[in-house]
Amino acid sequence: MTHIPGPGELLEWDRRYVWHPFTPMKAWLEKTNPPVIVRGQDEFLFDTEGRRYIDGVSSLWCNIHGHHVPELDEAVRRQLDQIAHSTLLGLCNVPSILLAKRLIEIAPAGLTRVFYSDNGSTAVEVACKLAYQYWVNRGRPQRSRFIAFEGAYHGDTLGAVSVGGIPAFHQVYQPLCFPVDRVAPPLLPPFSPVDAAGAAPAQPIAVAGNTKWSEHIETLLVANPDQYAAIIIEPLVQGAGGMLMHPPDTLRQIRRLADRHDLLLIADEVLTGFGRTGRMFACEHENITPDFLCLSKGLTAGYMPLGATLTTDRIFDAFYADPRAGKTFYHGHTFTGHPLACAVAVASLDLFARRHLLEHTAAVREVLAAGLAPLKDHPHVADVRQIGLIAAVQIVKSRPTGELYPPHWRIGGELCTRVRSQGLILRPLADVLVLMPPLAIQPENARRMAEIVVKSLSWLPEIVRLKEAGAA
Ligand code: PLP
Repeated sequence: MTHIPGPGELLEWDRRYVWHPFTPMKAWLEKTNPPVIVRGQDEFLFDTEGRRYIDGVSSLWCNIHGHHVPELDEAVRRQLDQIAHSTLLGLCNVPSILLAKRLIEIAPAGLTRVFYSDNGSTAVEVACKLAYQYWVNRGRPQRSRFIAFEGAYHGDTLGAVSVGGIPAFHQVYQPLCFPVDRVAPPLLPPFSPVDAAGAAPAQPIAVAGNTKWSEHIETLLVANPDQYAAIIIEPLVQGAGGMLMHPPDTLRQIRRLADRHDLLLIADEVLTGFGRTGRMFACEHENITPDFLCLSKGLTAGYMPLGATLTTDRIFDAFYADPRAGKTFYHGHTFTGHPLACAVAVASLDLFARRHLLEHTAAVREVLAAGLAPLKDHPHVADVRQIGLIAAVQIVKSRPTGELYPPHWRIGGELCTRVRSQGLILRPLADVLVLMPPLAIQPENARRMAEIVVKSLSWLPEIVRLKEAGAA
């Protein structure tokens, strides 16, 4: 049996062997003292020291029903008793069939096929490749350009990076990427630009209430007829870009634009899918059906890695040909449609219904909003925005001017480190505090989260004093 060392040694091994994601490792090794999580229960995480925290980011925006949920644990065990993994290349497996049927039953009308992969980036990668090959298969290979939004985040594989728009994450890889035209996104005012890696952008990525985005897209499409394969959007909320929220009617307008110009629409609901915005899928808010719906994260309730790209008969039919026609989609991963992940995803959908989770989410949303309301007039808060159980608090140096704190002060990170002492795990996007608990969180714990965040702003003067003195 593997020897599991005590807390101190574990952390030492972590420091010695683990390269953490999205992490400046020098600062991590020199300055941080993170908890080592050993178990979870409902909306709580527990560390090796026995401390309990509210999982305020639902383990990176994916946990739905909480941790250690008997029905979900049981679904994994039941599947383990059958088989852990077998391939979808040349074979079928029971859970992936059951899940595909369930997904098509609940997805926006017109989506009829499920292509599995194993995370959010690959769900997007599949959509981009399918969109391009659709046009190749239809004899229009010149349709190879994509339209995406500035500030967008679609994942970290190179296709997903190509359609991403966060300079600090994506700029360096541009020479490796395919051509994409980026459009400033429509945003709900008030808006404060953020660069999710912590640097203030040289230029704001958009202005509040930007209404020019659709004209910009139209101009691109008219100037380059028959050149574009697809447009990709994070419906309603641009997540990693700073939880930037779109005004109503954006999705409907994009659908209309796409229809007018025969452009395919990719809805990346990796973050917004599975109840996060208050509806099962964000597309439902505006009653649209995309040509591709990318899912992951909440798909398995945050239990296991799994991606799914749903699409329509129109797309499927363009690949449905004699193998010699060269129209096959040659893409797949070893763990595509993993049985354990699919089994837990089916069990999660059962729980949504059994526990009336969307109704619960609507009630908790109000509790969270009420708890954050005191921040709306705070001198260091530019904006509190929320949809469903996604809430974001934009911290600024000056509310009237919107001036940000120096990015290298990492004020958001400082606040998130300190809220741990109050029993809350948060992860910022630059100076945006993100509150995104498991949907099943109890109202009193959502209230507690908000209380801790409100209280945390009273620590700002001390943090600023230390930063100015160069002491932190
Ligand atoms: N798309 C969106 C909208 C996301 O928010 C993310 C991750 O945060 C991804 C894609 C990538 O998902 P993954 O990290 O599972 O590759």
